[in-house]
Amino acid sequence: MKDDAQQLVTRFAPSPTGRLHKGHAYSALLAFGRARDEGGRFLLRIEDIDTVRCRNEFVAGIFEDLKWLGLTWEEPVRRQSEHFADYQNALDRLKAMGLVYPCFCTRKDIQREIDAAETAPHGPDGPIYPGICRGREDADALLADGAPHAWRLNLEAALAHICEPLVWQDEIRGTIKATPKELGDVVLARKDTPTSYHLSVVVDDALQGITHIIRGEDLFHATHIHVVLQKLLGYEPPIYHHHGLLLDEHGERFAKRNKSVTLESMRKAGMQPSDLVAEIIPS
Ligand code: GLU
Repeated sequence: MKDDAQQLVTRFAPSPTGRLHKGHAYSALLAFGRARDEGGRFLLRIEDIDTVRCRNEFVAGIFEDLKWLGLTWEEPVRRQSEHFADYQNALDRLKAMGLVYPCFCTRKDIQREIDAAETAPHGPDGPIYPGICRGREDADALLADGAPHAWRLNLEAALAHICEPLVWQDEIRGTIKATPKELGDVVLARKDTPTSYHLSVVVDDALQGITHIIRGEDLFHATHIHVVLQKLLGYEPPIYHHHGLLLDEHGERFAKRNKSVTLESMRKAGMQPSDLVAEIIPS
């Protein structure tokens, strides 16, 4: 064991919205292997802020599948649905800094605005929010009336507050200059749940002292906004490692909706975990 100052801490953070597939196994094995090889710590975190789509049976499935793969992790496992107060706290800090605003838009409102605009910039997550509710004068009145709302980051104000170029260290791609404008005024607390993926992942990685974030390159674009939130909230920036994604025989990413590639189905078909590990992690 290394002392805390230099010990690597990494995590695997699935959302329990379905059974794990080969792509998850690859990501979990990479993170676990890295911690094991470097005398570090490996944490498992259940990202279940979406209390409608996430199910307890899938949480149990995650434990079962990862144990079958031979992984071990520290207890207790952090479940995001038990920590909404932590995300609220971070949101309150951003509110106090004047860097978030309530957004009352429905999806239709946003689409209408985008359709009417001459140009509608798109980012990796789709069309960028056109700023309908930014600086809205009736916001306080609507809040007082209890109008349903999300909270969005005011990115321009956030970048003016930070006032320096942001970069992050990526073990695969090197030093990356953050270009968060591609994501725009992202949602930090949704209408249906008092946080969002971006906010809770950043808060948890900081609270859990994660030093190395090992995750798929499908989340590379999200890091542009995560580094902004880390800076605003005064968190130590972790090192990133966005690994390539495993592809199936058609060159497609594995998806939860494709039941045939779940670890559960492989196990039931008699596959040995060592064979799966040998297949996906070249030695
Ligand atoms: N919960 C996210 C997912 O299942 C991963 C979060 C992360 O690794 O940053 O896609």
